[in-house]
Amino acid sequence: MTDTLVPFDDVLAAYDPAMGLEVHVELNTASKMFCGCPTEFGAEPNTQVCPTCLGLPGAMPAVNARAVESAIRIGLALNCRIAEWCRFARKNYFYPDMPKNFQTSQYDEPIAFDGYMDVEVGEETFRVEIERAHMEEDTGKSLHVGGATGRIHGADYSLVDYNRAGIPLIEIVTKPITGMGERAPEIAKAYVAQLRELIVALGVSDARMDQGSIRADVNLSLAPKGTGTLGTRTETKNVNSLRSVERAVKYEMQRHAAVLGDGGSILQETRHWHEDTGITTSGREKSDAEDYRYFPEPDLVPVAPSREWVEELRGTLPENPTVKRARLQSEWGFSDLEMRDTVGAGALGLVEETIAAGAAPQAARKWWLGEMARRANDSGTDIASLGVTPAHVAHVQRLVDEGTLNDKLARQVFDGLLAGEGTPEEIVAARGLAIVSDEGALSAAVDTAIAANPDVADKIREGKVAAAGALIGAVMKEMRGQADAGRVRELILEKLG
Ligand SMILES: [Zn+2]
Repeated sequence: MTDTLVPFDDVLAAYDPAMGLEVHVELNTASKMFCGCPTEFGAEPNTQVCPTCLGLPGAMPAVNARAVESAIRIGLALNCRIAEWCRFARKNYFYPDMPKNFQTSQYDEPIAFDGYMDVEVGEETFRVEIERAHMEEDTGKSLHVGGATGRIHGADYSLVDYNRAGIPLIEIVTKPITGMGERAPEIAKAYVAQLRELIVALGVSDARMDQGSIRADVNLSLAPKGTGTLGTRTETKNVNSLRSVERAVKYEMQRHAAVLGDGGSILQETRHWHEDTGITTSGREKSDAEDYRYFPEPDLVPVAPSREWVEELRGTLPENPTVKRARLQSEWGFSDLEMRDTVGAGALGLVEETIAAGAAPQAARKWWLGEMARRANDSGTDIASLGVTPAHVAHVQRLVDEGTLNDKLARQVFDGLLAGEGTPEEIVAARGLAIVSDEGALSAAVDTAIAANPDVADKIREGKVAAAGALIGAVMKEMRGQADAGRVRELILEKLG
Protein backbone atom coordinates (compact mmCIF):
# COMPACT_ATOMS: atom_id res chain seq x y z
CA MET A 1 0.00 0.00 0.00
CA THR A 2 1.55 3.29 -1.07
CA ASP A 3 0.30 6.58 0.27
CA THR A 4 -0.55 9.49 -1.94
CA LEU A 5 2.03 12.26 -1.63
CA VAL A 6 1.77 15.98 -2.27
CA PRO A 7 4.73 17.56 -4.16
CA PHE A 8 7.13 19.08 -1.63
CA ASP A 9 6.76 22.65 -2.93
CA ASP A 10 2.98 22.40 -2.62
CA VAL A 11 3.33 21.25 0.99
CA LEU A 12 5.39 24.34 1.77
CA ALA A 13 2.92 26.66 0.03
CA ALA A 14 0.10 25.52 2.32
CA TYR A 15 1.67 24.38 5.60
CA ASP A 16 4.31 25.09 8.22
CA PRO A 17 6.08 21.94 9.44
CA ALA A 18 6.92 21.40 13.10
CA MET A 19 9.33 18.73 14.19
CA GLY A 20 10.46 17.05 17.37
CA LEU A 21 13.48 14.77 17.42
CA GLU A 22 14.08 12.09 20.01
CA VAL A 23 17.49 10.54 19.83
CA HIS A 24 18.46 7.50 21.89
CA VAL A 25 22.15 7.08 22.54
CA GLU A 26 23.38 3.74 23.80
CA LEU A 27 26.23 4.42 26.21
CA ASN A 28 29.46 2.47 25.92
CA THR A 29 29.72 1.60 29.60
CA ALA A 30 31.25 -1.80 30.34
CA SER A 31 28.21 -2.88 32.36
CA LYS A 32 24.46 -2.31 32.21
CA MET A 33 22.50 0.55 33.76
CA PHE A 34 21.28 -1.22 36.88
CA CYS A 35 23.29 -4.46 37.10
CA GLY A 36 26.80 -5.74 36.43
CA CYS A 37 26.03 -7.61 33.21
CA PRO A 38 28.42 -6.94 30.31
CA THR A 39 27.24 -4.91 27.34
CA GLU A 40 29.27 -6.23 24.42
CA PHE A 41 27.53 -6.16 21.05
CA GLY A 42 26.99 -9.41 19.19
CA ALA A 43 27.22 -11.96 22.05
CA GLU A 44 25.21 -15.21 21.93
CA PRO A 45 21.55 -14.46 22.77
CA ASN A 46 20.65 -14.40 26.46
CA THR A 47 24.21 -14.87 27.70
CA GLN A 48 24.51 -11.36 29.20
CA VAL A 49 21.63 -11.47 31.65
CA CYS A 50 21.06 -11.73 35.40
CA PRO A 51 18.08 -11.66 37.79
CA THR A 52 18.06 -7.84 37.82
CA CYS A 53 17.90 -7.21 34.08
CA LEU A 54 15.50 -10.15 33.68
CA GLY A 55 13.23 -8.60 36.30
CA LEU A 56 13.14 -11.69 38.50
CA PRO A 57 11.34 -11.28 41.85
CA GLY A 58 13.49 -9.87 44.64
CA ALA A 59 16.30 -8.64 42.39
CA MET A 60 17.54 -5.16 43.37
CA PRO A 61 18.93 -2.64 40.87
CA ALA A 62 21.80 -0.21 41.54
CA VAL A 63 22.69 2.79 39.35
CA ASN A 64 25.80 2.65 37.15
CA ALA A 65 27.86 5.69 38.18
CA ARG A 66 29.69 5.86 34.85
CA ALA A 67 26.34 6.10 33.04
CA VAL A 68 25.35 9.05 35.24
CA GLU A 69 28.68 10.69 34.46
CA SER A 70 28.11 10.24 30.71
CA ALA A 71 24.57 11.61 31.04
CA ILE A 72 25.85 14.73 32.78
CA ARG A 73 28.59 15.27 30.19
CA ILE A 74 26.05 14.94 27.36
CA GLY A 75 23.76 17.37 29.17
CA LEU A 76 26.55 19.89 29.64
CA ALA A 77 27.67 19.59 26.02
CA LEU A 78 24.08 20.38 25.01
CA ASN A 79 24.12 23.52 27.19
CA CYS A 80 21.58 21.98 29.58
CA ARG A 81 21.04 22.64 33.24
CA ILE A 82 21.92 19.65 35.39
CA ALA A 83 19.42 18.60 38.04
CA GLU A 84 20.64 18.89 41.62
CA TRP A 85 18.38 16.01 42.54
CA CYS A 86 16.42 13.66 40.31
CA ARG A 87 14.78 10.29 40.40
CA PHE A 88 14.14 7.37 38.14
CA ALA A 89 10.57 6.44 37.29
CA ARG A 90 8.81 3.28 36.16
CA LYS A 91 7.20 3.54 32.76
CA ASN A 92 4.62 0.79 32.79
CA TYR A 93 3.74 -1.12 29.68
CA PHE A 94 3.84 -4.69 28.55
CA TYR A 95 6.05 -5.76 25.72
CA PRO A 96 7.70 -9.17 25.37
CA ASP A 97 11.18 -7.70 24.99
CA MET A 98 10.83 -5.90 28.33
CA PRO A 99 11.05 -8.55 31.03
CA LYS A 100 10.12 -6.33 33.98
CA ASN A 101 6.87 -5.10 32.39
CA PHE A 102 8.13 -1.61 33.03
CA GLN A 103 11.06 0.38 31.76
CA THR A 104 13.16 2.19 34.33
CA SER A 105 13.37 5.68 32.90
CA GLN A 106 13.06 9.26 34.06
CA TYR A 107 9.83 11.18 33.79
CA ASP A 108 9.33 14.64 35.28
CA GLU A 109 12.79 14.79 36.84
CA PRO A 110 15.34 14.36 34.03
CA ILE A 111 19.04 14.63 34.84
CA ALA A 112 19.53 17.39 32.21
CA PHE A 113 17.07 19.95 30.83
CA ASP A 114 16.66 23.31 29.05
CA GLY A 115 19.56 23.23 26.65
CA TYR A 116 20.19 23.95 23.01
CA MET A 117 22.38 23.05 20.09
CA ASP A 118 23.33 25.44 17.29
CA VAL A 119 23.04 23.39 14.14
CA GLU A 120 24.85 24.42 11.00
CA VAL A 121 22.62 24.11 7.97
CA GLY A 122 24.21 25.28 4.76
CA GLU A 123 25.55 28.76 5.45
CA GLU A 124 23.24 29.39 8.37
CA THR A 125 23.04 28.41 11.99
CA PHE A 126 19.75 27.14 13.32
CA ARG A 127 19.20 26.85 17.06
CA VAL A 128 17.48 23.65 18.18
CA GLU A 129 16.20 23.89 21.74
CA ILE A 130 16.70 20.80 23.88
CA GLU A 131 13.91 20.01 26.29
CA ARG A 132 15.64 17.26 28.21
CA ALA A 133 18.20 14.50 28.23
CA HIS A 134 17.24 11.68 30.54
CA MET A 135 18.61 8.32 31.58
CA GLU A 136 16.85 5.05 30.90
CA GLU A 137 17.51 1.45 29.98
CA ASP A 138 17.22 -0.31 26.68
CA THR A 139 14.79 -3.14 25.99
CA GLY A 140 15.66 -6.61 24.71
CA LYS A 141 15.30 -7.52 21.06
CA SER A 142 12.55 -9.57 19.45
CA LEU A 143 13.31 -11.72 16.45
CA HIS A 144 10.31 -12.71 14.35
CA VAL A 145 10.96 -15.93 12.50
CA GLY A 146 9.23 -16.91 9.25
CA GLY A 147 7.28 -14.52 7.05
CA ALA A 148 8.81 -12.32 4.41
CA THR A 149 9.33 -9.03 6.20
CA GLY A 150 10.96 -9.98 9.50
CA ARG A 151 8.10 -8.18 11.21
CA ILE A 152 5.63 -9.81 13.55
CA HIS A 153 2.87 -9.98 10.92
CA GLY A 154 3.10 -13.25 9.07
CA ALA A 155 5.81 -14.64 11.37
CA ASP A 156 5.57 -18.28 12.52
CA TYR A 157 7.01 -17.58 15.95
CA SER A 158 9.11 -15.04 17.81
CA LEU A 159 12.29 -15.28 19.85
CA VAL A 160 13.54 -12.75 22.34
CA ASP A 161 17.10 -11.88 23.33
CA TYR A 162 17.56 -10.00 26.61
CA ASN A 163 21.25 -9.17 26.18
CA ARG A 164 20.33 -5.59 25.32
CA ALA A 165 17.78 -5.30 28.15
CA GLY A 166 19.20 -2.88 30.70
CA ILE A 167 21.93 -1.30 28.56
CA PRO A 168 22.13 2.40 29.51
CA LEU A 169 20.48 4.83 27.17
CA ILE A 170 20.31 8.58 27.13
CA GLU A 171 17.23 9.94 25.41
CA ILE A 172 17.67 13.47 24.09
CA VAL A 173 14.41 15.24 23.32
CA THR A 174 14.10 18.54 21.48
CA LYS A 175 11.42 21.11 22.03
CA PRO A 176 9.08 21.48 19.04
CA ILE A 177 11.18 22.90 16.22
CA THR A 178 9.34 25.45 14.09
CA GLY A 179 10.19 28.19 11.61
CA MET A 180 12.00 25.74 9.32
CA GLY A 181 9.94 25.75 6.11
CA GLU A 182 11.69 23.91 3.29
CA ARG A 183 14.77 23.30 5.43
CA ALA A 184 12.95 20.87 7.75
CA PRO A 185 14.39 17.65 6.26
CA GLU A 186 17.87 19.20 6.08
CA ILE A 187 17.72 20.51 9.65
CA ALA A 188 16.67 17.10 10.94
CA LYS A 189 19.61 15.46 9.23
CA ALA A 190 22.07 18.16 10.29
CA TYR A 191 20.88 17.99 13.90
CA VAL A 192 21.31 14.23 14.15
CA ALA A 193 24.67 14.43 12.35
CA GLN A 194 25.96 17.15 14.65
CA LEU A 195 24.60 15.39 17.73
CA ARG A 196 26.33 12.21 16.62
CA GLU A 197 29.56 14.16 16.15
CA LEU A 198 29.24 15.54 19.65
CA ILE A 199 28.60 12.09 21.14
CA VAL A 200 31.68 10.75 19.34
CA ALA A 201 33.75 13.68 20.61
CA LEU A 202 32.53 13.00 24.16
CA GLY A 203 33.54 9.36 23.77
CA VAL A 204 30.40 8.12 25.55
CA SER A 205 29.06 5.84 22.81
CA ASP A 206 30.30 4.22 19.61
CA ALA A 207 27.45 6.13 17.98
CA ARG A 208 26.92 3.59 15.21
CA MET A 209 23.59 4.28 13.56
CA ASP A 210 23.83 1.03 11.60
CA GLN A 211 24.17 -0.99 14.82
CA GLY A 212 21.47 0.98 16.60
CA SER A 213 23.73 2.62 19.17
CA ILE A 214 22.21 5.91 18.01
CA ARG A 215 18.54 5.79 17.02
CA ALA A 216 16.39 8.71 15.96
CA ASP A 217 12.63 9.00 16.24
CA VAL A 218 11.13 11.75 14.14
CA ASN A 219 7.98 13.54 15.28
CA LEU A 220 6.37 15.59 12.60
CA SER A 221 3.23 17.68 12.21
CA LEU A 222 1.89 20.25 9.79
CA ALA A 223 -0.11 23.36 10.60
CA PRO A 224 -1.90 25.60 8.08
CA LYS A 225 0.59 28.22 6.97
CA GLY A 226 0.90 31.27 9.17
CA THR A 227 -1.45 30.08 11.94
CA GLY A 228 1.32 29.47 14.44
CA THR A 229 -0.43 26.37 15.78
CA LEU A 230 0.80 22.79 16.05
CA GLY A 231 -0.94 20.01 14.13
CA THR A 232 -1.34 16.39 15.17
CA ARG A 233 2.01 14.62 15.04
CA THR A 234 3.18 11.21 13.97
CA GLU A 235 6.29 9.58 15.37
CA THR A 236 8.45 7.67 12.93
CA LYS A 237 10.55 5.21 14.92
CA ASN A 238 14.14 4.07 14.73
CA VAL A 239 15.31 5.78 11.59
CA ASN A 240 18.77 4.30 11.31
CA SER A 241 20.81 6.47 8.97
CA LEU A 242 21.33 10.19 8.49
CA ARG A 243 20.02 10.00 4.98
CA SER A 244 16.88 8.25 6.20
CA VAL A 245 16.24 10.96 8.79
CA GLU A 246 16.09 13.48 5.97
CA ARG A 247 13.97 11.25 3.77
CA ALA A 248 11.56 10.32 6.56
CA VAL A 249 10.85 13.97 7.40
CA LYS A 250 10.23 14.82 3.77
CA TYR A 251 8.03 11.77 3.26
CA GLU A 252 5.88 12.45 6.32
CA MET A 253 5.44 16.10 5.30
CA GLN A 254 4.22 15.00 1.89
CA ARG A 255 1.97 12.29 3.32
CA HIS A 256 0.44 14.53 6.01
CA ALA A 257 -0.34 17.16 3.37
CA ALA A 258 -2.10 14.55 1.24
CA VAL A 259 -4.26 13.36 4.15
CA LEU A 260 -5.08 16.91 5.27
CA GLY A 261 -5.70 18.06 1.69
CA ASP A 262 -8.34 15.35 1.30
CA GLY A 263 -10.14 16.68 4.37
CA GLY A 264 -8.83 13.85 6.52
CA SER A 265 -7.14 14.10 9.88
CA ILE A 266 -3.80 12.78 11.05
CA LEU A 267 -3.92 9.94 13.53
CA GLN A 268 -1.51 10.33 16.44
CA GLU A 269 0.46 7.15 15.94
CA THR A 270 3.90 5.66 15.59
CA ARG A 271 5.07 4.90 12.07
CA HIS A 272 7.66 2.45 10.82
CA TRP A 273 10.32 3.67 8.40
CA HIS A 274 11.14 1.33 5.52
CA GLU A 275 14.67 1.88 4.35
CA ASP A 276 14.23 -0.10 1.11
CA THR A 277 11.10 1.59 -0.22
CA GLY A 278 11.57 4.97 1.47
CA ILE A 279 8.08 5.06 2.95
CA THR A 280 6.52 4.91 6.41
CA THR A 281 3.69 2.61 7.42
CA SER A 282 1.32 2.75 10.34
CA GLY A 283 2.53 1.28 13.64
CA ARG A 284 0.53 1.52 16.82
CA GLU A 285 -1.64 4.30 18.10
CA LYS A 286 0.58 6.52 20.20
CA SER A 287 -0.10 6.47 23.91
CA ASP A 288 -0.17 9.65 25.93
CA ALA A 289 2.19 9.94 28.86
CA GLU A 290 -0.58 9.29 31.39
CA ASP A 291 -1.25 5.87 29.84
CA TYR A 292 2.14 4.71 31.14
CA ARG A 293 1.19 5.31 34.79
CA TYR A 294 4.65 6.62 35.59
CA PHE A 295 5.62 6.53 39.24
CA PRO A 296 8.91 7.11 41.07
CA GLU A 297 11.10 4.02 41.17
CA PRO A 298 11.08 2.81 44.78
CA ASP A 299 14.12 0.52 44.50
CA LEU A 300 16.63 3.21 43.50
CA VAL A 301 17.94 6.12 45.51
CA PRO A 302 17.66 9.57 43.88
CA VAL A 303 20.61 10.86 41.86
CA ALA A 304 22.01 14.06 43.39
CA PRO A 305 25.21 15.09 41.60
CA SER A 306 27.22 17.61 43.61
CA ARG A 307 27.96 20.94 41.92
CA GLU A 308 31.67 20.27 42.35
CA TRP A 309 31.37 17.04 40.37
CA VAL A 310 29.32 18.73 37.65
CA GLU A 311 31.95 21.47 37.29
CA GLU A 312 34.69 18.87 37.24
CA LEU A 313 32.87 17.10 34.40
CA ARG A 314 32.40 20.39 32.57
CA GLY A 315 36.17 20.63 32.54
CA THR A 316 36.34 17.34 30.59
CA LEU A 317 34.15 18.52 27.70
CA PRO A 318 35.68 18.40 24.22
CA GLU A 319 36.03 21.52 22.10
CA ASN A 320 32.69 22.88 20.93
CA PRO A 321 32.08 21.46 17.43
CA THR A 322 31.35 24.88 15.91
CA VAL A 323 34.55 26.39 17.28
CA LYS A 324 36.42 23.29 16.24
CA ARG A 325 35.10 23.50 12.70
CA ALA A 326 36.38 27.06 12.34
CA ARG A 327 39.76 26.00 13.67
CA LEU A 328 40.02 23.00 11.33
CA GLN A 329 38.96 25.05 8.31
CA SER A 330 41.81 27.46 8.90
CA GLU A 331 44.33 24.68 9.62
CA TRP A 332 43.35 22.78 6.48
CA GLY A 333 43.03 25.84 4.26
CA PHE A 334 39.58 24.79 3.03
CA SER A 335 37.33 27.34 1.36
CA ASP A 336 33.90 27.98 2.94
CA LEU A 337 32.33 25.88 0.21
CA GLU A 338 34.75 22.99 0.72
CA MET A 339 34.15 23.04 4.45
CA ARG A 340 30.37 23.21 4.03
CA ASP A 341 30.39 20.30 1.62
CA THR A 342 32.55 18.27 3.99
CA VAL A 343 30.23 18.89 6.91
CA GLY A 344 27.13 18.39 4.76
CA ALA A 345 28.36 15.01 3.60
CA GLY A 346 28.84 13.92 7.22
CA ALA A 347 32.54 13.53 6.45
CA LEU A 348 34.15 16.02 8.81
CA GLY A 349 35.31 13.46 11.36
CA LEU A 350 36.43 11.10 8.60
CA VAL A 351 38.47 13.79 6.88
CA GLU A 352 39.95 14.83 10.21
CA GLU A 353 41.02 11.27 11.04
CA THR A 354 42.40 10.76 7.54
CA ILE A 355 44.55 13.89 7.89
CA ALA A 356 45.64 12.74 11.35
CA ALA A 357 46.68 9.45 9.71
CA GLY A 358 49.03 11.35 7.42
CA ALA A 359 47.12 12.41 4.29
CA ALA A 360 47.23 15.99 2.99
CA PRO A 361 43.96 17.88 3.69
CA GLN A 362 42.97 18.28 0.02
CA ALA A 363 43.70 14.63 -0.71
CA ALA A 364 41.60 13.51 2.26
CA ARG A 365 38.76 15.76 1.14
CA LYS A 366 38.99 14.59 -2.46
CA TRP A 367 38.66 10.90 -1.58
CA TRP A 368 35.86 11.25 0.94
CA LEU A 369 33.78 13.79 -0.93
CA GLY A 370 34.47 12.71 -4.47
CA GLU A 371 34.83 8.98 -4.24
CA MET A 372 33.30 7.75 -0.98
CA ALA A 373 30.30 10.09 -0.99
CA ARG A 374 29.38 8.86 -4.46
CA ARG A 375 29.73 5.22 -3.45
CA ALA A 376 27.68 5.78 -0.28
CA ASN A 377 25.01 7.43 -2.35
CA ASP A 378 25.00 4.60 -4.91
CA SER A 379 24.60 1.97 -2.23
CA GLY A 380 22.18 4.01 -0.12
CA THR A 381 24.35 3.96 3.00
CA ASP A 382 26.06 6.53 5.14
CA ILE A 383 29.57 7.48 4.26
CA ALA A 384 30.70 6.39 7.75
CA SER A 385 29.18 2.92 7.31
CA LEU A 386 30.82 2.09 3.99
CA GLY A 387 33.53 -0.09 5.49
CA VAL A 388 36.40 2.11 4.25
CA THR A 389 38.17 3.73 7.20
CA PRO A 390 40.23 6.93 7.48
CA ALA A 391 43.29 4.73 7.97
CA HIS A 392 42.55 3.00 4.65
CA VAL A 393 42.17 6.30 2.81
CA ALA A 394 45.38 7.66 4.29
CA HIS A 395 47.17 4.44 3.36
CA VAL A 396 45.94 4.52 -0.25
CA GLN A 397 46.93 8.18 -0.55
CA ARG A 398 50.40 7.30 0.75
CA LEU A 399 50.69 4.74 -2.05
CA VAL A 400 49.71 7.49 -4.51
CA ASP A 401 52.26 9.88 -3.00
CA GLU A 402 54.97 7.23 -3.27
CA GLY A 403 54.13 6.67 -6.92
CA THR A 404 52.88 3.10 -6.46
CA LEU A 405 49.35 4.07 -7.52
CA ASN A 406 47.74 6.77 -9.58
CA ASP A 407 44.21 8.01 -8.84
CA LYS A 408 42.61 5.60 -11.27
CA LEU A 409 44.36 2.61 -9.69
CA ALA A 410 43.58 3.96 -6.23
CA ARG A 411 39.88 3.80 -7.10
CA GLN A 412 40.32 0.12 -7.86
CA VAL A 413 41.95 -0.37 -4.47
CA PHE A 414 38.83 1.17 -2.93
CA ASP A 415 36.72 -1.29 -4.92
CA GLY A 416 38.76 -4.05 -3.31
CA LEU A 417 38.42 -2.54 0.17
CA LEU A 418 34.64 -2.35 -0.21
CA ALA A 419 34.61 -5.95 -1.38
CA GLY A 420 36.55 -6.96 1.74
CA GLU A 421 39.64 -8.15 -0.15
CA GLY A 422 42.10 -7.21 2.61
CA THR A 423 44.51 -4.35 3.24
CA PRO A 424 45.39 -1.84 0.51
CA GLU A 425 48.77 -3.54 -0.05
CA GLU A 426 47.18 -6.98 -0.31
CA ILE A 427 44.72 -5.62 -2.85
CA VAL A 428 47.46 -3.92 -4.89
CA ALA A 429 49.34 -7.23 -4.97
CA ALA A 430 46.35 -9.50 -5.60
CA ARG A 431 44.87 -7.31 -8.34
CA GLY A 432 48.24 -6.40 -9.86
CA LEU A 433 47.52 -2.70 -9.59
CA ALA A 434 50.90 -1.10 -9.03
CA ILE A 435 52.13 1.45 -11.54
CA VAL A 436 54.65 0.10 -14.02
CA SER A 437 57.81 2.05 -13.29
CA ASP A 438 59.92 -0.07 -15.63
CA GLU A 439 61.25 2.58 -18.03
CA GLY A 440 61.91 -0.02 -20.72
CA ALA A 441 58.28 -1.16 -20.75
CA LEU A 442 57.05 2.44 -20.74
CA SER A 443 59.37 3.46 -23.53
CA ALA A 444 58.27 0.49 -25.64
CA ALA A 445 54.61 1.38 -25.11
CA VAL A 446 55.30 4.98 -26.15
CA ASP A 447 57.09 3.79 -29.32
CA THR A 448 54.12 1.58 -30.17
CA ALA A 449 51.70 4.46 -29.70
CA ILE A 450 53.81 6.79 -31.89
CA ALA A 451 54.04 4.17 -34.61
CA ALA A 452 50.29 3.58 -34.53
CA ASN A 453 49.44 7.29 -34.69
CA PRO A 454 51.80 8.91 -37.22
CA ASP A 455 49.50 11.90 -37.86
CA VAL A 456 49.43 12.79 -34.18
CA ALA A 457 53.18 12.32 -33.90
CA ASP A 458 53.72 14.74 -36.81
CA LYS A 459 51.59 17.39 -35.12
CA ILE A 460 53.67 17.12 -31.97
CA ARG A 461 56.86 17.37 -34.00
CA GLU A 462 55.42 20.57 -35.49
CA GLY A 463 55.08 21.96 -31.97
CA LYS A 464 51.39 21.23 -31.33
CA VAL A 465 52.10 19.88 -27.84
CA ALA A 466 48.39 19.73 -26.95
CA ALA A 467 48.07 16.79 -29.35
CA ALA A 468 50.13 14.69 -26.92
CA GLY A 469 46.93 13.92 -25.00
CA ALA A 470 45.85 11.42 -27.66
CA LEU A 471 49.15 9.55 -27.42
CA ILE A 472 49.10 9.58 -23.61
CA GLY A 473 45.62 8.06 -23.79
CA ALA A 474 46.86 5.33 -26.14
CA VAL A 475 49.81 4.50 -23.88
CA MET A 476 47.64 4.44 -20.74
CA LYS A 477 45.25 2.09 -22.52
CA GLU A 478 48.10 -0.15 -23.57
CA MET A 479 49.40 -0.15 -19.95
CA ARG A 480 45.89 -0.84 -18.56
CA GLY A 481 46.05 2.46 -16.68
CA GLN A 482 49.09 1.34 -14.71
CA ALA A 483 51.42 4.12 -15.79
CA ASP A 484 52.29 7.53 -14.47
CA ALA A 485 50.66 9.84 -17.02
CA GLY A 486 53.15 12.62 -16.23
CA ARG A 487 56.11 10.38 -17.02
CA VAL A 488 54.44 9.13 -20.21
CA ARG A 489 54.02 12.73 -21.37
CA GLU A 490 57.68 13.44 -20.69
CA LEU A 491 58.74 10.41 -22.69
CA ILE A 492 56.54 11.36 -25.66
CA LEU A 493 57.92 14.90 -25.74
CA GLU A 494 61.50 13.63 -25.38
CA LYS A 495 61.04 11.27 -28.31
CA LEU A 496 59.28 13.80 -30.58
CA GLY A 497 60.81 17.01 -29.29
ZN1 LIG B 1 21.92 -8.05 34.39
